[in-house]
Amino acid sequence: MSVITLGIIGGGQLGSMLSMAAKELNIKTIVYCDDVDAPAEKFCDEFIFGKYDNKEKIFEFINKVNIITYEFENIPYETLNEINKKKPVLPKPSINRLIQHRLAEKDFVNKLNIRTTRYTYIEKKSDLESLKDFLPGILKTVTMGYDGKGQYPINDIKDLNHLNIDFSKKYILEKLVKLKKEISVIITRFGNNSYEIYEPIENTHENQILKYSKIPADINEKIFNQSKEWAISIAEELKYIGTLCVEFFIDRNENLYVNEIAPRVHNSGHLTINAYNISQFENHIRAVCSLEKINLKKISNAKMINLIGTQIEPYRQKIKFNKNEFFFDYLKKEIKEKRKMGHITTLV
Ligand code: ADP
Ligand code: MG
Repeated sequence: MSVITLGIIGGGQLGSMLSMAAKELNIKTIVYCDDVDAPAEKFCDEFIFGKYDNKEKIFEFINKVNIITYEFENIPYETLNEINKKKPVLPKPSINRLIQHRLAEKDFVNKLNIRTTRYTYIEKKSDLESLKDFLPGILKTVTMGYDGKGQYPINDIKDLNHLNIDFSKKYILEKLVKLKKEISVIITRFGNNSYEIYEPIENTHENQILKYSKIPADINEKIFNQSKEWAISIAEELKYIGTLCVEFFIDRNENLYVNEIAPRVHNSGHLTINAYNISQFENHIRAVCSLEKINLKKISNAKMINLIGTQIEPYRQKIKFNKNEFFFDYLKKEIKEKRKMGHITTLV
C-alpha cells in the first residue's frame, strides 16, 4: 500500500511522466495545474484545476499531499513559499526563484567560476543603444521564457526599430556564441555528495526548440568531464534535492559555457526512460520522496526525436514499431504549431 502522496505542480508532459514513474513506485500523485486540459490529468491519481494564486484551491491541494514538487519553473515564488510553510516543497522555492530569473541564475553560475555567455541587464530601451559589444546577440526576458519564447535575435542596433519589443518587461542581452554543439547534463542529487549523474546528452535545436537528443554525445573527453563536474558543483552549491538539468553550449574553439539550468526533469532526458535502468523521472521521485538511491546503469545508446505540432500525426497512424523504438504520445487535446506533442526514442 502506498504511504506517500506526492503533489506535482504543473500538468504538462513532464508532469505525466513524473506521475507514471511515481505509480511504478507505489506513490500516489495529485497534479495541480492552471490548465483544465492538462495532459497529466490522464496519468495522475487525482487532478486539481486552479490558478497559481487561488489560495483556496492551493489549500485543498496542500491538505491532500505529503510532499510537493513541480514540473516547470515559472511558478510564482510567493506561491511555492507559502506552500512550503505547510508541506515540504522540493527543490526548495528559493532555488526556483534563483533559477527562474536569468540574471540571478547567470550571476550565480559565474560566482562558481563557471563560464556563461557574456550578458548584461537591460531595463529600458536606451540601455541597448551603447551595447555594440554584445552584438550580434539575443535579447531574452529575464523571467517566464521557455522554448525560445520571449527571445529576440539582434544583429544590429537598427533591428530595434523593426522588432516590437515590450519594454515593460526586463531583459538580458546575451552575446551570441558561435555554436559548435549543445549538450546537457542531468543529475539527481539525494543529499551531500550523494547523487546519480547521466552522461552528457547531445542536443539539436530547431527554431530554439529542442528537436533531437542523443547519447553518446560526440564530444572530447575534456568536455565530457568538465560538463559533469560543473553540473555536480552547481547541484552541490544549491544543496539541491531532485533532478536538475544543466544546458551547455560548446563553441567552435571547444570552449564550454553553461547556457541555463532547469530545476526539474528535462526534455533532453526523455531518452533516460529507455536507455537507463532508472529514468530521470524515477530518480526525481526517489530523491524528493527520500527513497533508496540505486546505482545508475546505462542499458543502451539512444536517440530521441521530439514530435512537434503535426509531426505527431503519422506516428499516431502507425500500428507497429520496431522493438527498439518507443513512441510517446502526450495526449494533448489540440495540435498546435510549435507545441511538443510526443516523442520517439530509438535504442541504437
Ligand atoms: P529557453 O529558456 O527558451 O530554453 P535558451 O536560453 O536555452 O532559452 O535558448 C534556447 C536556444 O536558443 C538555445 O538552446 C540555443 O540553441 C539558442 N541560443 C540561446 N542563447 C544563445 C546564445 N547566446 N548563443 C547562441 N545560441 C543561443
Ligand atoms: Mg533552454
